[in-house]
Amino acid sequence: MSKKSHNPREGTVHIIGAGLAGLASAVRLAQAGYRPTLYESADHAGGRCRSLFETTLDRLIDNGNHLLLSGNRATMDYLHAIGAQGELSVAPRAVYPFVDIRDGKRWSVRPNRGRVPWWIFSQSRRVPGSRPWDYFAALGLAWARPDKTVADCFDTSRPVYERFWEPLAVAVLNAGAHEGAARLLWPVIRLTFGKGEAACRPCFTRQGLSGTFVDPALAWLSGQEAKINFQTRIRSLQTGADNNGNAVTELDFSSGAIPVTDKDYVILAVPPEAASSLLPELSVPSESRTIVNVHFRLSQPPPTDTGDTSDIGETRLTGIIGGHAQWLFLRGDVASVTVSAADKLAQESAETIAQCIWPEIARVLDMDADRPLPPYRVIKEKRATFAQTPDQLAFRARTRTSCNNLFLAGDWTDTGLPATIEGAIESGFAAAAAIMENNGERT
Ligand SMILES: Cc1cc2nc3c(=O)[nH]c(=O)nc-3n(C[C@H](O)[C@H](O)[C@H](O)COP(=O)(O)OP(=O)(O)OC[C@H]3O[C@@H](n4cnc5c(N)ncnc54)[C@H](O)[C@@H]3O)c2cc1C
Repeated sequence: MSKKSHNPREGTVHIIGAGLAGLASAVRLAQAGYRPTLYESADHAGGRCRSLFETTLDRLIDNGNHLLLSGNRATMDYLHAIGAQGELSVAPRAVYPFVDIRDGKRWSVRPNRGRVPWWIFSQSRRVPGSRPWDYFAALGLAWARPDKTVADCFDTSRPVYERFWEPLAVAVLNAGAHEGAARLLWPVIRLTFGKGEAACRPCFTRQGLSGTFVDPALAWLSGQEAKINFQTRIRSLQTGADNNGNAVTELDFSSGAIPVTDKDYVILAVPPEAASSLLPELSVPSESRTIVNVHFRLSQPPPTDTGDTSDIGETRLTGIIGGHAQWLFLRGDVASVTVSAADKLAQESAETIAQCIWPEIARVLDMDADRPLPPYRVIKEKRATFAQTPDQLAFRARTRTSCNNLFLAGDWTDTGLPATIEGAIESGFAAAAAIMENNGERT
């Protein structure tokens, strides 16, 4: 890749899309002294990771519960850079309580401190009915061929499959274990469980996703004189040949066209469908999966669980087996439920979904399931992530493109990580690093 001869900081880095990938690239570039300008089609930043005030509940809620783990290094770097590390509560220890709502059985998975995973030899720390070997089986993910699914790597008749590996795969990949790519689950296990208890503590936002990941980033960026243009949708990119090969020469926005000079760079940090409509020759994952979240406002906060839970601040996390609901996040009087890989469920009306989920949550919280349905809000994110199946992985795009001044970011690009906050932030950092590398700078 040829380098530009001028001072790179004289130009502008145009970043299209102000989700976490776009924000992370802007932050990294601004830290290095570049001048980023963001363009976002919506009237707010954050994309698929944001908070909203829900009037029916009279509460601030997130578009979807987001589970983060303390081993998410890029995420922690990002929060540190924008001065928002204090907005994230890291649980004092990794404890994952589960309930099987079919028989009411409860247990907790409790990895031990230190890197040697002796917890798998302790019946009180592992899944009931499991054996130590059930956990070593995860190593099969590391060597899985690209066409293998998570289910291909485990003995699906073992209780630990239904009680641990399957819910973990669905949460991480937003795909059933029978279709989710084994190759994508492995890096998460390696970077969290593989690094010991300290890397797999659950983390919760103190004031919602926007208050943690978005608002502090916008405030920090504006302090660096980065610009952000909302309600500015890109319609097309013009390309042409320059001295270094093919390059983007003009950006056509809903608000007008902007020339791209040879001092400038462009980062496209939009979802795959938007990227492919702008660059038809680009191969992108074409399938997506839905996540449904149901937020219930309870008449009062349930009594604090004094048992072995991962309580921290106002959030309690419980894994649910044997129903539609998969994870319950309890924050004060708001019980928020995640259903991943929920394409079928999302076809139902909001009322039907709430009526289906509520009895399950009442059971988890030891409440009377016949109580009338509390106020609720159902959020269906139809394109929550790309379909993280072996077939679709092959279409993840690289950071660099055939245009020497155009770079890609987004959770769907080829980060080697699943489509998560960590993956999105990592992709933004990678795009920023590629620009700096282009200029011969160390990253
Ligand atoms: C319900 C739900 C639950 C999730 N749960 C988890 C979880 O538990 N843990 C986890 O780590 N991750 C989770 N994720 C995934 C995580 O939210 C995403 O991976 C991450 O937010 C993606 O960020 P991004 O910047 O790549 O894309 P996006 O957030 O989609 O950002 C792209 C931005 O581009 C803008 N844009 C689109 N087209 C244009 C255009 N033409 N011009 C200008 N701008 C445009 C969009 O408006 C958007 O703001 C979840 C996602 C959802 C939806």
